[in-house]
Amino acid sequence: MTFPWRIEALNPPFGDPGFLLQHSYSGKTLLFDLGDLHKLSAKQILKVSHIFISHGHIDHLIGFDHLLRLTLNRSKHLNIFGPPGIITMVGHKLKGYHWNLTAHYELLITVHEVHEKSVEQCTFACRHKFHPEPGISKARNSATILETPTFAINAATLDHGIDCLAFALKEPLQVKIRPEGLSRRNWVPGPWLNKVRLALQSNRPTDTIIEVDGHNYHLQEIADSIALIRPGLKIAYVTDTGFTPENCQKLLPLIEGADILLCEAAFLESAADKAEISKHLTAAQAGKLACLSRARHLRLFHFSPRHTEEIEEFYRQAGEHFSGRIS
Ligand SMILES: [Zn+2]
Ligand SMILES: [Zn+2]
Repeated sequence: MTFPWRIEALNPPFGDPGFLLQHSYSGKTLLFDLGDLHKLSAKQILKVSHIFISHGHIDHLIGFDHLLRLTLNRSKHLNIFGPPGIITMVGHKLKGYHWNLTAHYELLITVHEVHEKSVEQCTFACRHKFHPEPGISKARNSATILETPTFAINAATLDHGIDCLAFALKEPLQVKIRPEGLSRRNWVPGPWLNKVRLALQSNRPTDTIIEVDGHNYHLQEIADSIALIRPGLKIAYVTDTGFTPENCQKLLPLIEGADILLCEAAFLESAADKAEISKHLTAAQAGKLACLSRARHLRLFHFSPRHTEEIEEFYRQAGEHFSGRIS
């Protein structure tokens, strides 16, 4: 199975945190956090449509101006998701400049502020000098904060002294059509294939009727004849969070069974006291989270510069608790 998401760290592990995720088939491009973006190309940044900010510390948000500078005269709609306070923070950043010469630019920025029970929305339009235009507040009764045909994003609010969001990207069920199945049944490909794919992905009853070449069949029979089905991938992103029972209780259901767990490991065991005080994870705790959540691959990032000379120790200490792949 080829992995459909290209995941690129914004910086080496001792640099500002964050990842760019690009979906190979749809081209959909997302950012987890907005640390220093200068190592990405302008072409990569211009593809970004959705940004998920864990929290408002400067190492997670300083890339906003760089993103804005590159996208300003583009006809784009950026969607930024973040914790309580993110609307004010983005609004203040936009207020830091004059906008008298940009009334013909079409850039739109919608900020989605994720609360425990609701998602508040505010749009900033360049043509309106980025004045805040509050949108509708949506009630939230599940972990899901965004659903698209390619992926959904779930979030959990953790304690880092301030609210800090962890995210999990989940693909829907993956349905591949087998051409040999089509020719065996003498079925001609057409729009009905998409109906079959959508019906399977949305778990429609197996006796759902779908018309193929003028004849009606049960979904189950069609699936048995032509479909290969596998669960969608899960990519989790966890950063800047204390290893407390409360955080773990909220985090583990979110990251359970992740194909890739992108997880901060700010400190080594020698500085475990610093991790506790600053509500960060150690490499060992990242390994424990990967083990407890039964992740397949643990990818570490956000190392503290105090351990610059000990980079191998991060992987060794995480590996004492997790036997899967670590990078
Ligand atoms: Zn932080
Ligand atoms: Zn940080």
